[in-house]
Amino acid sequence: MVKVIIVGAAGRMGRQLVADALRDKELDLVGGVVEPGMSEVGMDLGILGGQQPIGITATDDLESVIDKADAIIEFTAPEATVEHVGVAALHKKAAVVGTTGLGSAQIAKLREAAEVTPVLLAPNMSVGVNVLLKALPLIARALDESYDIEIVEAHHRMKKDAPSGTALKLAEVIAQALQKDLDEVGSYGRKGIAPRSTGEIGIHAVRAGGIVGDHTVIFANEAEQIEVVHRAFSRQNFALGALRAAKFVAKQKPGFYSMADVLNL
Ligand code: NAD
Repeated sequence: MVKVIIVGAAGRMGRQLVADALRDKELDLVGGVVEPGMSEVGMDLGILGGQQPIGITATDDLESVIDKADAIIEFTAPEATVEHVGVAALHKKAAVVGTTGLGSAQIAKLREAAEVTPVLLAPNMSVGVNVLLKALPLIARALDESYDIEIVEAHHRMKKDAPSGTALKLAEVIAQALQKDLDEVGSYGRKGIAPRSTGEIGIHAVRAGGIVGDHTVIFANEAEQIEVVHRAFSRQNFALGALRAAKFVAKQKPGFYSMADVLNL
């Protein structure tokens, strides 16, 4: 059993992680950390995860519980993440970080921590998306210039940024595989007289209703079409990846890891 603490346990991802960790027979949920001053401090973790009480309450002090764990799973905000990974490193505990928007100085701090403890950083924990990041370059390299490449992503109406970070990452690995610069070949949306040029990678964003996250990559020439589609049904998609990452990272030597290491890609 790998003993884990969910940090950010009151957040959207945190609650999903608590729920899925409680269902996972290879994991033992030994603690949950919430932001100081939040009403969830002292709340039973089972309740936070939408289940029966488990007799372990949420704390706002990682230091007070860290020694019970093998690994922390961190989905909060950049500044808090750096602080929490620092605590994990001090106690030689592994850390899985899902928080996005970390600046380069903050990533450097995580790398510093990784010198003494295993740290895994993955801006997208979805197993499926990480497999796609590996598979798409293979497809792109095998096809010739007659195949046009277009990426269409769809998300819920509340999403602020467009295109999604994942769509950009998918485009980037394809561009790299073709030895092209995405800044030069990326074409974002079309309007009016906008004919396609050879070699461009079209990227389009749909915003509608409650769509959790769809990504479609199209390779098409005049004779055939390949479509690679990934659909996230819920946040569980990310939570299950993060739990798998925790089981992996708890058994590693100090170092800086990614989902590609977890999935042996
Ligand atoms: P959220 O706002 O619902 O939750 C964040 C939680 O962190 C909040 O409950 C907040 O109170 C808590 N928090 C902030 N500071 C804290 C502190 N010092 N100690 C303890 N808790 C603290 O957001 P969310 O949707 O759960 O996302 C959280 C992060 O995870 C974001 O950066 C998001 O982009 C990222 N995310 C990553 C993936 C992935 O696959 N890597 C997937 C989804 C979301």
